[in-house]
Amino acid sequence: MSVQIDTSLEEIRRFRPSPEFAAQSVATESLYTDAKADRLGFWATQARELLHWNKPFTQTLDWSNPPFAKWFDDGELNVAYNCLDRHVEAGNGDRIALHFEGEPGDSRSYSYAELTAEVKKAANLLTALGVRSGDRVAIYLPMIPEAVISMLAVARLGAVHSVVFGGFSADSLRARIDDAEAKVVITADGGWRKGKVFPLKNAVDTALEDGQSSVNHVLVVKRGGNEVQWTEGRDLWWHDEIAAVDADHVAKPFPAEHPLFVLYTSGTTGKPKGILHTSGGYLTQAAFTHKNVFDLHPERDVYWCTADIGWITGHSYVVYGPLANGATQVIYEGTPDTPHQGRWWEIIDKYKVTILYTAPTAIRTFMKLGRQIPQSFSLRSLRLLGSVGEPINPEAWIWYRHVIGGGSIPVVDTWWQTETGAIMISALPGLTDLKPGAAQVAIPGIEIEVLDDDGNKLEEGGGLLVINEPWPAMLRGIWGDPERFKETYWDKFQGKYFAGDGARLDEDGDIWLLGRVDDVMNVSGHRLSTAEIESSLVAHPLTAEAAVVGAADETTGQAVVAFVILKNSHEHDIADPDEIAALLRAHVAQQIGAIARPREVFIVNELPKTRSGKIMRRLLRDVAEGREIGDTTTLADTAVMQIITSKVR
Ligand code: ATP
Ligand code: MG
Repeated sequence: MSVQIDTSLEEIRRFRPSPEFAAQSVATESLYTDAKADRLGFWATQARELLHWNKPFTQTLDWSNPPFAKWFDDGELNVAYNCLDRHVEAGNGDRIALHFEGEPGDSRSYSYAELTAEVKKAANLLTALGVRSGDRVAIYLPMIPEAVISMLAVARLGAVHSVVFGGFSADSLRARIDDAEAKVVITADGGWRKGKVFPLKNAVDTALEDGQSSVNHVLVVKRGGNEVQWTEGRDLWWHDEIAAVDADHVAKPFPAEHPLFVLYTSGTTGKPKGILHTSGGYLTQAAFTHKNVFDLHPERDVYWCTADIGWITGHSYVVYGPLANGATQVIYEGTPDTPHQGRWWEIIDKYKVTILYTAPTAIRTFMKLGRQIPQSFSLRSLRLLGSVGEPINPEAWIWYRHVIGGGSIPVVDTWWQTETGAIMISALPGLTDLKPGAAQVAIPGIEIEVLDDDGNKLEEGGGLLVINEPWPAMLRGIWGDPERFKETYWDKFQGKYFAGDGARLDEDGDIWLLGRVDDVMNVSGHRLSTAEIESSLVAHPLTAEAAVVGAADETTGQAVVAFVILKNSHEHDIADPDEIAALLRAHVAQQIGAIARPREVFIVNELPKTRSGKIMRRLLRDVAEGREIGDTTTLADTAVMQIITSKVR
């Protein structure tokens, strides 16, 4: 059997759940045994227990036309009703749904009753603007309550939202409006970021300036207070219109496979894909994973997921999962460093946040700044930490657990994608012995395998991650492009979903993500993963963050080239970058083996990242090989590439 990716980074630390945590755990071992005994029956039970169905389903999965799955197909439900009204009807109307914290320090809280009332009005407003079931609405807003309200109002009508991250340009917005043929755009005058108002309405005007788009109306939330241009007849102030509509709205049921949203992937590897998700299966898995992975006790927890609603994490774990479960959560508009570098920790202290879900990129930034910042706030309310978006380096995991979590609370590393809709691989915090840096185990009811290049199943070692059975929250396609859907995910291994990520199975059968298959390096015939070498670099006390790429090399085929960011506390040590590079090269050789020793180590201040914070290694490969830099449209900060290039050449 041919093994696909060589692996050798050894991580032997283990953390057992504390008896107190285990005793109150929401998840129980029976989830695994039930799912194993009858996978479809298990999901049917979850769908019935977690959601309200206006018309119960009789069929769980229809996989007669793969890769087009139908889940709970003959059932009917309303997604927004499930996230709102039913909690009010169950007597929980006074429970806080959202604590909103604006960047300038303003705050607002909405109970479930209040949020339901706002969504009803917004649904009436959209109806008045001609939005009907199946129509598309683009949402281009900052992280303010109206973003959540808009998404739910669209869902309530059976319309389809396409949320476009507020940091995207007019061009990106227009491309997404055109792709989905959106009828209405919901935006704001501007939002707060790094102490300033950034304009949004402006970008919408530019996007629509040719007057040729599908958009009839632009609804504008007043947030930034900045000057805006106005197109009479097209543009409407949200606050004016919402005051004029009826307060009552009855949610109608829609079939389980009714489309819910289109969302574009982050664009880490290339042009973003418009991923389509539908209603019943998506909501079932979002709610199930949110409840069990985050050990949610809705009556006492305060949950905070730091993702923007422009990303899938914001869809599934700010809007749909938490609200379907009746959770109380925090949403924050701004950046972590405004007005000071402890802003997040201040927010956790203020709202007594118990569950925090964030990304490795944020954790590594805090590591770089130093532990004294979080340590000057009380983080004692925290009882569970989560990570998503990239492999979390074991050292970053340990730092997260110790510095943010006080050394004793569980950290769950959750692997999933825009395409999977919800978490697929993660520990369950009251049950699993945790391994820093590993996503570990498939969620109950999810079937994951690691294959070699020829499609043979591996029992141990590194290969390609596939999902070999359909799952409730799976994408139903790429918007308007069924061929690309088949080609991208299903053609490589007939009938199995190819995720595009490398993974290793350890001797216990636990899963370690190794990074993107496209980024795997081939050094003297050895296939090396980015994640392990980066983790080794981050494990050195000098380093906060690292990215490695394979660059063409005359003798070895490819050679490892590393880009590292040092911790602030060590910046003054960079008197001699060559010396540090030599130190780090030796460190990797010693930890992983000579084969992984970087040919070069460049010390940089920033790494190129997507707007959702993921490292874009393909751009670093361009630098390392001395090529023209490729497509940077999804890059958060284009200036970064110039700075890095000038350092290297
Ligand atoms: P594109 O597909 O356009 O290149 P993207 O893959 O970055 O963009 P997302 O759907 O936001 O878009 O990200 C999913 C990817 O993020 C996964 O395929 C994986 O590479 C990475 N990822 C997410 N969570 C984890 C995790 N816990 N461990 C390792 N990798 C993760
Ligand atoms: Mg992807």
